Amino acid sequence: MNRRGERRSRRTGTAGGRIRGPDGGTRADTTNDQDRSTPGAQVRGGQDHDGTRPLDVIVVGGGAAGLSLAHRLARRGDLTVTVVEPPDGPLRPPERTWCYWAAGPDDFAGALEATWSRLRIHGRDGTGITVDPAPLQYRMLRSAPFERLVHSALGRNPRTTLLRATAETVREVPGGAEVRCTAPGGGTRILRAARVFDSRPPRVLPPARTLLLQHFRGWFVRTAADRFDPAVADLMDFRVPQPRHGLAFGYVLPLAADHALVEYTEFSRTPLSRPEYEAALEHYCRSVLRLGLYTVEAAEQGVIPMTDARFPRRAGRAVFRIGTAGGATRPSTGYTFAAVQRQSRAIAAALAEGRDRVPPPHGRRALAMDAVLLRALDTGRIDGPDFFTRLFGRTPAERLLRFLDGATTPREDLGIGLHTPVGPMLRTALELPFLPRRSRPAPSVTPRDEESR
Ligand SMILES: Cc1cc2nc3c(=O)[nH]c(=O)nc-3n(C[C@H](O)[C@H](O)[C@H](O)COP(=O)(O)OP(=O)(O)OC[C@H]3O[C@@H](n4cnc5c(N)ncnc54)[C@H](O)[C@@H]3O)c2cc1C
Repeated sequence: MNRRGERRSRRTGTAGGRIRGPDGGTRADTTNDQDRSTPGAQVRGGQDHDGTRPLDVIVVGGGAAGLSLAHRLARRGDLTVTVVEPPDGPLRPPERTWCYWAAGPDDFAGALEATWSRLRIHGRDGTGITVDPAPLQYRMLRSAPFERLVHSALGRNPRTTLLRATAETVREVPGGAEVRCTAPGGGTRILRAARVFDSRPPRVLPPARTLLLQHFRGWFVRTAADRFDPAVADLMDFRVPQPRHGLAFGYVLPLAADHALVEYTEFSRTPLSRPEYEAALEHYCRSVLRLGLYTVEAAEQGVIPMTDARFPRRAGRAVFRIGTAGGATRPSTGYTFAAVQRQSRAIAAALAEGRDRVPPPHGRRALAMDAVLLRALDTGRIDGPDFFTRLFGRTPAERLLRFLDGATTPREDLGIGLHTPVGPMLRTALELPFLPRRSRPAPSVTPRDEESR
């Protein structure tokens, strides 16, 4: 299962896209890849760090995890918080979309792009399984409106600050920790706080037995005729050619009858080149979805490690890792955003009680089951498309999503486990303790993409 959603090119809106016909021919030009600039150069509350008085909290990195935590702490209102986020440039990730499921009110309701109350999976044979996960809803947030919403909330709190600077080092000092930053002009800035929450992406992944990559490219397409059902999100569509290793699927998030994010995703060891993604997307749009004439308005690409590595959550007495860097990405799905919200709530609650503890983003049982699944997929012992199709077809949707949130009981987990190929899964579980763990570099966001330009 995967995640994500839509974004329109802010540079050109619907203009200047690529228009393709059923024959794949190009009528006009230039795919509008995302504009990397982000609004909100500097948000400053009434208090800035003056170099003499330590802050309560420094959050390093203003992405999904950093801003979610800062948002929660700002709502508490009594802590001095500074978020350190680099100026526009190579360290800032491109604009992207986060999808997650949730019930009830949403902290980021003002930035939500779309919601769906029905989800669908297509098996390899074309059978569609549509489910209603009520009371859960599938939700889509774009990173730019999310940032604007959080930046404006931080700006309203005189005790919070967003500092545009690059964190170079984070180290413990008596009474807390120190973050040494480089300002956009080149000067050095040193911040001190009682606690630092660091969300910078790791350069090297912790040692793991299995590392698969969830890698994908998506197009925001506008069709000439109405082709989508805006009420249903297609989470996994296995009617695409399967790779020799791992699995592949389409992912469709309709935003209107003629407008959707359409993605091609693989769980495998190596990302594709951009032309390879484009060929797979073109085939999916043309031959599987039969979109007819369509315009590609923008594109999104990414790679998310799916690993049984153990991410340390603590880098010192006063330094904690959060977000992907702290293991918030669910190994079997790549979903991270919801875990980041749970973790932010828990950290805020711990700080309110004066406790220094970052709870694990995922429970042990969930991680153990994911380790088995990843290894079984990687070895080819189970057939990925059949596995996910069967799981969706046989487990009530709400329970399956709760399972992916780590919120099911052991009994429910057992029931779900019995819908999987028990023999290969057991064999994999028995061999796991004897497998070595290896460190590997973290994959870059657009690997091999640059080569192909
Ligand atoms: C394209 C894409 C789509 C995804 N879609 C989904 C989805 O739909 N649902 C889901 O649950 N998960 C999704 N994920 C996975 C995950 O939710 C995201 O990767 C998410 O952004 C992780 O949050 P984070 O805060 O850990 O990392 P990021 O959001 O990447 O934030 C890290 C921050 O650290 C900053 N930084 C880096 N270096 C420095 C430095 N030296 N000093 C200061 N700051 C620094 C960066 O600028 C960045 O803002 C997606 C991932 C990608 C790549």
